[in-house]
Amino acid sequence: KTFESLGLCEQLVEACDSLGWKNPSKIQVEAIPHALEGKDLIGLAQTGSGKTGAFALPILQALLESPQAFFACVLSPTRELAIQIAEQFEALGSAIGVKCAVVVGGVDMMQQTIALAKRPHIVVGTPGRLVDHLSNTKGFSLRTLKYLVLDEADRLLNEDFEKALDEILKAIPRERKTYLFSATMTKKVRKLQRACLRNPVKIEA
Ligand code: AMP
Repeated sequence: KTFESLGLCEQLVEACDSLGWKNPSKIQVEAIPHALEGKDLIGLAQTGSGKTGAFALPILQALLESPQAFFACVLSPTRELAIQIAEQFEALGSAIGVKCAVVVGGVDMMQQTIALAKRPHIVVGTPGRLVDHLSNTKGFSLRTLKYLVLDEADRLLNEDFEKALDEILKAIPRERKTYLFSATMTKKVRKLQRACLRNPVKIEA
């Protein structure tokens, strides 16, 4: 399979090429055509499978079709993962001018407030800090969000994050696409799936 045959536009095929991605990984082959059709996704995949590309490419294609600030939000359980995800969005989206902000704990709020004031297309963050900004950062809201990604959902579902996750779900539109990725399918993940996703297509790395 090629990236082109999955339905991706020329600009994104070129972006993959420029990163040295020769062919799509298994999870990308399974995810991208369904995502481009507008389906919600539930993906069983580990880091290293190419799952970030599997959700970033369809989001970027949708963004190209109707550019807008605060288009997508990706929730990650750790700072490090959030940074890696943002780096992949920026690498894939650099030629098309995609703006990303990273909103994670343990670093200065002010810098992040400035990044959010630039109205990025993509916000990647950890749940607690994202909620801090939703309640404290003037002019920042996710009311126009089109895509929500729950990455490493099994790890997002610890006690620390549960309340924040609830608040985020209340602050975003119900009319949106949702992609949930998890290494394991636990009871809690299934519960989150039922609460957040609509007729998702299940895919596996
Ligand atoms: P991930 O599983 O999303 O954390 O990705 C793991 C690594 O694989 C990252 O460094 C990506 O840049 C790389 N990668 C993702 N998709 C591909 C691909 N189709 N071909 C080659 N490398 C890839």
